Amino acid sequence: MADVVIVGGGVIGCSIAYHLAEAGVPVTILERGEIGGEASGASAGILAPVEVSPGPDALHELYLASLRLFPSLADRLPEETGIDIEYLRSGVLRLALSDADVDELRALAEREPLGQGMERVDRDALRRLEPRLASTCGGVHFPDLCQVNPHRLAQALAQAAVARGAALRQGVTVRGFVTSSARVTGVRTSEGRVTAGQVVIAAGSWTAALGRRLGANLPVRPMRGQMLAFPNFSSPIRHIVFWHDAYLVPKANGFIFAGSTVEDVGFRRNTTAKGLAGLRRMAATLVPSLAYSEVSSDWAGLRPGSPDGLPMLGPVPGWEGLSVASGHFRKGILLAPITGRLMAQLLTEGRMEVSLGPFSPSRFAAGAR
Ligand SMILES: Cc1cc2nc3c(=O)[nH]c(=O)nc-3n(C[C@H](O)[C@H](O)[C@H](O)COP(=O)(O)OP(=O)(O)OC[C@H]3O[C@@H](n4cnc5c(N)ncnc54)[C@H](O)[C@@H]3O)c2cc1C
Repeated sequence: MADVVIVGGGVIGCSIAYHLAEAGVPVTILERGEIGGEASGASAGILAPVEVSPGPDALHELYLASLRLFPSLADRLPEETGIDIEYLRSGVLRLALSDADVDELRALAEREPLGQGMERVDRDALRRLEPRLASTCGGVHFPDLCQVNPHRLAQALAQAAVARGAALRQGVTVRGFVTSSARVTGVRTSEGRVTAGQVVIAAGSWTAALGRRLGANLPVRPMRGQMLAFPNFSSPIRHIVFWHDAYLVPKANGFIFAGSTVEDVGFRRNTTAKGLAGLRRMAATLVPSLAYSEVSSDWAGLRPGSPDGLPMLGPVPGWEGLSVASGHFRKGILLAPITGRLMAQLLTEGRMEVSLGPFSPSRFAAGAR
């Protein structure tokens, strides 16, 4: 089986490596920083496809397929690596604070995005579930939804891949590709050339720049997300709480994450006073006691966005031996297991169990070369 080189050690690259190593394929992860050091480690780790405005059906099916893979991963990864990925069934509450919100959630409830395990809750029921929430007009409860520690998930996938024979090289930057006519035969790195039968670009927000080296149009764009954490004294909530796009997440270690902004500001990965003030306001609106809490830390990450909101998975048009898995935007943690599985199928069997159609990188090929 040809060697596979994966460019990028975020949760996507690590999941692909894990699934390839499981299939017995020799695989190397090249990561210029540390595993999970970019968007993956900055994430909230929510596994909840409960958008009010649904995306295309194919994407929703992918969400559900990935959700189904988490329980066995959550069993196996700690056994194989000793790393607890903090897979917690916190449940999700989507809140309505106004009549307009109630109408929106009614539409969500009718669509029943998970096809199971969802209930509408009135104001009193919500108060019983979460006594320290602000006064609401009710909401929707998804009791079975879960979260993980995203940094640990990336680390555990990488370690489990290594345990199955994968090579992991951190601190190695991929600068370009080695080609022979229309075939990619390896990568040029800060440490010299690495030959490969197949190269997979899983470089998150930095995917487009790598594509440009080969004249390939892989239009991934960084979308900054700022987040902050309240300290772990005594968490005022037990559920993940959403209000529109904003959320509070009680993490396994007791901290509460408040997230997050969505900003198109290029590769600037800093937090801003304005962004953090907005998150504090939102947190205090949902849980009034948080208005009096210190913030223990804040950070930002660059989500890999794509023009149509869908990830790009599969062969890069015009090049043999090159594929891409990127553009997972706000759902890369949720989509990591299915992405790893599908990309491993593609590289070992030449096809995926789902139709590649909507996710094929060839949808952007008109702008290529
Ligand atoms: C604030 C925030 C909250 C989020 N919350 C959630 C959530 O709750 N649930 C969810 O599902 N998703 C969430 N996301 C989205 C999720 O984090 C991303 O979709 C996911 O992490 C993308 O993973 P990735 O591996 O593609 O990218 P990354 O994690 O960014 O990894 C790409 C890696 O490639 C490496 N790299 C780049 N260029 C090179 C090169 N030339 N050579 C070598 N290495 C290179 C980088 O160093 C990086 O480590 C959130 C994101 C943010 C920022």
